[in-house]
Amino acid sequence: MTAPATTEQISATVGVGGTNTAADVRVVQDLLNRAARANLAVDGDCGPATREAIRSYQSGFLRVPDGRIDPGGLTLRRLTADAGGRSASPRDTPAATPGPGGGPRLTQFARQGPGHYAYADSERQYGTDTMTQLLTGTAAALHRAGLEMGVGDISFAQGGLMPPHKTHQDGRHVDLRPLRTDNARGPVSIGDPVYSRDGTRVLVESLLANPSVRRVLFNDTEIAGVRSFAGHHNHLHVELGP
Ligand SMILES: [Zn+2]
Repeated sequence: MTAPATTEQISATVGVGGTNTAADVRVVQDLLNRAARANLAVDGDCGPATREAIRSYQSGFLRVPDGRIDPGGLTLRRLTADAGGRSASPRDTPAATPGPGGGPRLTQFARQGPGHYAYADSERQYGTDTMTQLLTGTAAALHRAGLEMGVGDISFAQGGLMPPHKTHQDGRHVDLRPLRTDNARGPVSIGDPVYSRDGTRVLVESLLANPSVRRVLFNDTEIAGVRSFAGHHNHLHVELGP
């Protein structure tokens, strides 16, 4: 079966000392059943059996299992991965579309917001939930630094071939513009006078701080962590893990 890497979402903590909303508890119970054969009733009640199942599952990778699951935290990410991806969730937004071949659903990224603007057509900007989280977090980091990034091609709503790219087929790839010293919303190449290595370094560091980023292709190798690749002098190609 395919295993979407998109992490299941909960709105608040679940487990020992957690907020334990019924909807969140059901998400966790379903994940524990699929990831660890916990055989729990998916009833939204975080009772002793559910709390013990969380602890038991955590003992496989945490030295001190705390029995609690945080939104976006390690236990939730591992549970989702072990469960083979998210289950169909009523909380998926109406804008979400079924992914290619039953893969992750793709959602259109916001055209602009704090720290980002779009430079590709809107139908070419559909990504996985993980992609949306990455771009939102990176844009926020840039915004705090008084910077802004240009977001280019991601994928089509249904995925599939997107010329001229070979990749960009499943919402896990995105092109970003390097930063400019004048902060204008325009293209820039490494050799241009307005190319900002410092700004682009802030961008790269923010991207690489996200564990879901597999690699960043870009030809200014003075910036730590990027990989040189033909044609990547005027954009960064960011790839998420499977
Ligand atoms: Zn690309």
